[in-house]
Amino acid sequence: MTDATSLNTVMITPPAMLGILGGGQLGRYFVMAARTMGYRTTVLEPDPHSPAGAVSDVHIVAAYDDPAALDQLAATCAVVTTEFENAPATAMERLAAHIPVRPSSSAIAITQDRVAEKQFLVDIGVAVAPYIVIDGDDDITSAAGFTFPAILKTARLGYDGKGQVRCASYADLAPGWEQLGRVTCVLEQRMNLTRELSVVLARGADGTTACYPVSQNQHVHGILDVSYAPANLPGTGHADAGELGTYIAEELGFVGVMGVEMFVVGNDVLVNELAPRPHNSGHYTLDACVSSQFEQQVRAICGLALGDTKLLVPGVAMVNLLGDMWANGEPNWAKALQHGSAHLHLYGKSEPRAGRKMGHLTVTTGTAMGATSLARRIRKQLTAG
Ligand code: ATP
Ligand code: MG
Repeated sequence: MTDATSLNTVMITPPAMLGILGGGQLGRYFVMAARTMGYRTTVLEPDPHSPAGAVSDVHIVAAYDDPAALDQLAATCAVVTTEFENAPATAMERLAAHIPVRPSSSAIAITQDRVAEKQFLVDIGVAVAPYIVIDGDDDITSAAGFTFPAILKTARLGYDGKGQVRCASYADLAPGWEQLGRVTCVLEQRMNLTRELSVVLARGADGTTACYPVSQNQHVHGILDVSYAPANLPGTGHADAGELGTYIAEELGFVGVMGVEMFVVGNDVLVNELAPRPHNSGHYTLDACVSSQFEQQVRAICGLALGDTKLLVPGVAMVNLLGDMWANGEPNWAKALQHGSAHLHLYGKSEPRAGRKMGHLTVTTGTAMGATSLARRIRKQLTAG
């Protein structure tokens, strides 16, 4: 694969215009970090009321593959990045003909397709949960020999547990695949997870890398619920997980910020999936690290020196705030704001749908364990009568 590090290592400095595909909360923080540093920003996002569009210098309200919109980005931006993995590869290629696109369309193409991503990981010698590809009725028949329970996941466009069906036994597979619309899927063995970790790392255009402290994650119904750092890992666990993440980024020729989700199963580490962008589990870096993952994204794509990833407190925890919390009206934010070491983040989304990430709360006091306990308690109080 072409390694983007060999190309365009010229530093992009303020007040250059930086472009981003996608207008969600990850884009919002990217825009805020870029503007803090004196860059200007353009967001391409079809939703006129998006979290990132609301804070950007320019917001192009158009589809991600709209040719005129892409031409405008190419004509006005010094570099373009993305805040989500489903950016159309064709759009990235159209942009790349004129300006640097970081990460590259080839890296995005792999990470936006579970089949390609798993194959890539296997090819470079990284362990993943046992899986098979389901792409037709024959595959359903052959899956009779597969080990259940398992999870059927669509190859493309899944997020926050969407596009997944749990299969307790083989009998659930055929109906599950119907439910997912018979699209290409992976059937993954359901593992008994000892713990879930993620590594957020950056790789610059010159090939330098920097890892944040590993976070430990807890999911509820497939959605990240709680994340804390540093993960409670024995021995050289942090360095080991960082080394694995860095190896993957290098093999992918990746430039930008990337999240690597890992499953620890007994003594084994399996890679669950790759996010070619900052990661929800790295939000703690906004309040607890020298450089946040979003400042780091700006640094990586602009060819600046990577920032210091050091944690400034002994431990930090983050809890997500989902739309469900609005069921009885606006949560009581005073319960969080009365704590000096609790940091409230709301993304400016107007519609609090169930399961939708509306914001998060970070707690920066005590150990990771103490911060996690306090963050959970504060979140509970936000909606307690
Ligand atoms: P996100 O975009 O939020 O990362 P996603 O929709 O891409 O989520 P996955 O990361 O595949 O979904 O899965 C979400 C969660 O479901 C995992 O973090 C884990 O808790 C659980 N899970 C997924 N696959 C497995 C598996 N094979 N065995 C056990 N648990 C699993
Ligand atoms: Mg995931």
